[in-house]
Amino acid sequence: MARIIAVANQKGGVGKTTTAVNLAAALAAAKRRVLLVDLDPQGNATMASGVDKHAARPNGCAVLLEEATVADAVVATDGHYDVLPGNGDLTAAELKLMDTLAREHRLKEQLATVGGRYDTILIDCPPSLNLLTLNALTAADGVLIPVQCEYFALEGLSSLLETVKAVRQRLNPKLEIEGLLRTMYDVRNNLGNEVSAQLTTHFGDKVLRSIIPRNVRLAEAPSHGQPIHLYDRSSRGAIAYIGLAGEVIRRERGLPPAPVEPHEADDPTDITEPSAPGVHGVVLKAPAANHQD
Ligand code: ATP
Ligand code: MG
Repeated sequence: MARIIAVANQKGGVGKTTTAVNLAAALAAAKRRVLLVDLDPQGNATMASGVDKHAARPNGCAVLLEEATVADAVVATDGHYDVLPGNGDLTAAELKLMDTLAREHRLKEQLATVGGRYDTILIDCPPSLNLLTLNALTAADGVLIPVQCEYFALEGLSSLLETVKAVRQRLNPKLEIEGLLRTMYDVRNNLGNEVSAQLTTHFGDKVLRSIIPRNVRLAEAPSHGQPIHLYDRSSRGAIAYIGLAGEVIRRERGLPPAPVEPHEADDPTDITEPSAPGVHGVVLKAPAANHQD
């Protein structure tokens, strides 16, 4: 059965979608069969994967309302993963679900129908602790929490962790914290270093070794409808997400994190950290820019 990871943080703009899309592509590059579920009415993960959120029918809304199966709604992407498209219709689905029994379990039930087809299912959550996010946390084995290394990064983290605890108690006892992921990290910014140190002090080994640097290529890729590995596979952003995929795979196999390997900066426009995370001992291959393996 697929391992399900929800990418969640109710704080907006912390890198949830960037992480969900590029981790999906990096895992796919490691020959994982991956489904990315876009559970955010903004539909950003859908568009960033090169799928038109307006044209996608059936979509995640129909799946949540049991009007379509996941198998019917998924779309294959150039990044070699499937996406269950999401758009503004998800808001309507959330409202309708409010009145149903076992409303938090709907996504879990639907994903169970395709669990054998995928190794990993990633869920991109909206910036809210709403019923959509509760559905994601109820379906998930782990929750990956992107944290932007800037002011107020820790704000809201305690309510998210409280929610995770409550979900574990009432809805999904197997839910684990996959890890806190430092995103948009800028070594030249003292604050980023302070926030990073604070996170490690408070959360210890719950903080993932991988760090995602602030990288202009990561910000550009979605407007081309491409994950970073297709847009610029040698960028620091692409390398960082391959490192994250390696760390996720090692955790899944119960292996300790690999030592951090320093490597050269390859993009002079980047603002990067001095020693970026390595591939964490897992051999991963980024797809060629021409979309072939
Ligand atoms: P929302 O809460 O609205 O869903 P989010 O948490 O999904 O937001 P993203 O959409 O992934 O956050 O990122 C917010 C913005 O920051 C986007 O414009 C994205 O392109 C940019 N961004 C994300 N990660 C990085 C990065 N590592 N370097 C540079 N820009 C980034
Ligand atoms: Mg998002």
